[in-house]
Amino acid sequence: NQSQDDILKHADIAMYQAKTAGRNTLRFFDPQMQASINARAALEADLRLALQEKQFKLYYQPQVYHNGQTIGAEVLLRWQHPEFGLVSPLEFIPLAEETGLILPIGQWVLETACNQIKVWDSNVQTQNLHLSVNVSAKQFYQPDFVEQVSQALRHGVINTDRLKLELTESLVLDDIADTILKMNALREIGVRFSMDDFGTGHSSLAYLTKLPLDQLKIDQSFIRNIGVKANDAVIVQTIIGMANNLGMDVIAEGVETEAQRAFLEKHGCRIYQGYL
Ligand code: MG
Ligand code: MG
Repeated sequence: NQSQDDILKHADIAMYQAKTAGRNTLRFFDPQMQASINARAALEADLRLALQEKQFKLYYQPQVYHNGQTIGAEVLLRWQHPEFGLVSPLEFIPLAEETGLILPIGQWVLETACNQIKVWDSNVQTQNLHLSVNVSAKQFYQPDFVEQVSQALRHGVINTDRLKLELTESLVLDDIADTILKMNALREIGVRFSMDDFGTGHSSLAYLTKLPLDQLKIDQSFIRNIGVKANDAVIVQTIIGMANNLGMDVIAEGVETEAQRAFLEKHGCRIYQGYL
């Protein structure tokens, strides 16, 4: 009861799997493959609707100074799916990047974050808080990215130095010349920069000194291994020392235990983010 079209389609799917598995190999069609392709297509269709249906939510994870004072937060994007509930960003961010939907979504995050800074402006308890926003490579390399950020700031915010953009090492290294130009232009209007997931990428010292960075953010994989893997603890200490010597702030993300926090403080890292 299979049509000629179905059979060709199945062969195509199997071939695609073989290519994904590194080519020069073979795969048989399995209905499970079709099911996962259908699920992905359905998720993509839902993702296209999510912005206009206002299904995205921003969560603010506090960043805390060693004396317990909250000094800011990182904006974390969540998708409240009408059927499935909260969809993990690990699932929908790669999809948003592949489909280009990351651009309107990223724009929305930026504007919403700037509006939040504006709201914080009117309260003495919150008016000094910084807000960190993750930026994807596609978004950053838009020719008018600098303009987009300054627009969002103009609409919402008086005190522009409270917006911090988190960039990753791989983003920065994609086109280092363009990155430096854009970062300097944004720095001019007061925007700050943090190097996210630091230590997991290429971590080249040569570029670190060329970029107008304010902060290194130690990746949570190293923090998790404090007290577990001696090497990772050494990496943490090295990053802290590097940041201090380069005159940058250093923040640890994924801090979940008092032991991790104490280790970080002992070695000179005084800003923390995470479930603890
Ligand atoms: Mg981040
Ligand atoms: Mg991170």
